[in-house]
Amino acid sequence: MTQPIVTRFAPSPTGALHIGGARTALFAWAFARKHGGKFILRIEDTDQRRSSKDSAAGILRDLQWIGIDWDEGPMPAEGDPGGYDHQKGESGPYFQSQRLDIYNQHIEALRKGGFAYEDQGAVRLRMGKDITHDDAVFGTITVPGKDLEDFVIKKADGFPTFHLAVVVDDALMGTTHVLRGAEHLPNTPKHAALLDALAQVMPNPEKYARPVWAHMPSIMNPGGSKMSKRDKAKVAREAAQKAGLGMGVVQGMEDALFASFMKKETDDKGLAEVIAAHLGVTLPEIEVLDFAKSGYLPAAILNYIALLGWNPKTEVERFDLPEFIERFTLEGIHKSNSTFDREKLFRFNAERIAALTPAAFSTRAAGLAPAEFAGLMQDETKWHLFCKAYQPRARTLSEPFRIGRFFVAAPVWNFADKGVAKAGFGPGGEAPGLLAQMQAAFATLPENGFGKAAHDWIAAQAAENPAIGMGKWAGALRVAISGSTTTPDLEISLDLLGQKETLKRMAGCLGNVPK
Ligand code: GLU
Repeated sequence: MTQPIVTRFAPSPTGALHIGGARTALFAWAFARKHGGKFILRIEDTDQRRSSKDSAAGILRDLQWIGIDWDEGPMPAEGDPGGYDHQKGESGPYFQSQRLDIYNQHIEALRKGGFAYEDQGAVRLRMGKDITHDDAVFGTITVPGKDLEDFVIKKADGFPTFHLAVVVDDALMGTTHVLRGAEHLPNTPKHAALLDALAQVMPNPEKYARPVWAHMPSIMNPGGSKMSKRDKAKVAREAAQKAGLGMGVVQGMEDALFASFMKKETDDKGLAEVIAAHLGVTLPEIEVLDFAKSGYLPAAILNYIALLGWNPKTEVERFDLPEFIERFTLEGIHKSNSTFDREKLFRFNAERIAALTPAAFSTRAAGLAPAEFAGLMQDETKWHLFCKAYQPRARTLSEPFRIGRFFVAAPVWNFADKGVAKAGFGPGGEAPGLLAQMQAAFATLPENGFGKAAHDWIAAQAAENPAIGMGKWAGALRVAISGSTTTPDLEISLDLLGQKETLKRMAGCLGNVPK
């Protein structure tokens, strides 16, 4: 009988789930599912200082949100939402902090067998020999013994190191394939040496056979830096610098924290968010939760990240999970780093959003609506129109609230804006004249069916006098109602605003335009 496939995802709970972590989890999960194997979730919380229960619960919640499930590990239990104290599986516990006895037994065996020794309170594994290990992605790698120092497997504080714990757990949990980020490739000779030594000192050596290692390439920003949670601080800091933001300006911001943030001593995420909100800049999404808050659909994210570091070897790039599972192979993973292309993710997301049922769009978008949309949402007809206006064009579920803010807030006209000037509001432009004609005509239209009537009126004018096309009329009207040259479908937009508000904005625009 062939051995069943066992893979695992082993996050360290020192922060939220990074999009790269989600990609690693997805690949390990898909590989197990494809082969009818088992996918284990293990929380690597031996770094007591940096680990937290909240972060572990957050990672599990984010995995669930994106649609990855696991067969063994901490499980959400009834009466314990987000607590994950309940654990399921035959090789638990699945929190490393609860497995210290197991690690100590292994360390002791290595020490007794002469493979490890005490060094100022710590225990080190003896190295010295060349190590060769295979990697399903990177091939066969040999590291000469002279480059491999004896390394710590038990720290002076009594805790095992990551290396010891990960190796022991993978062995005892029957992991056959270790899929993880390429940053762990340099750790692999150590893990191979540890397994080889354990196979010689433990009573059941077959358990300590080396797994198949497959390291995933890193995910980079278009600029070439590694995509990291620090990117948010970077963007906020640059925006603060550009705006000349000083201390004491932003409410609730601590001066000392701000000062050290600007000196790059801290990348405090909360502060980055406060600065961004104050300056109206958007921070890049890095963690799964960021993407959720911005209104990306799990299916779009999964489809997109599946293509990061993995080549489907066909032209078809759009697929759902079952299809991905079927197609996924370790051979398809490539060595070179991949670049996170936000425009492409936008396209994937927009397509999935457009394909939602109107009811699903409405519910999902409603969950992300800011407070100022409360009034609009209470009016069922208006909310329906808002959804109809944006579902076909929204790149994220939160975008409509940003670009469609003019539906709930008075527009601001900037006639110096290039686009606005080009729409006929520049010196000597024809837009004010067209607007005045529309204003007079629209005032006489019926309130009911106003949008269509207004649209038909414009179409009739354009047909009568082709020198002034639809685009010119519509452009002037768009600026008047929204302050910008882009609005959703005009008919829908006018119905959403209503006749009265439309006329009010037209008058306001005419009153403001420089003579
Ligand atoms: N805990 C490690 C990390 O979060 C994972 C180690 C592994 O997958 O082997 O990077």
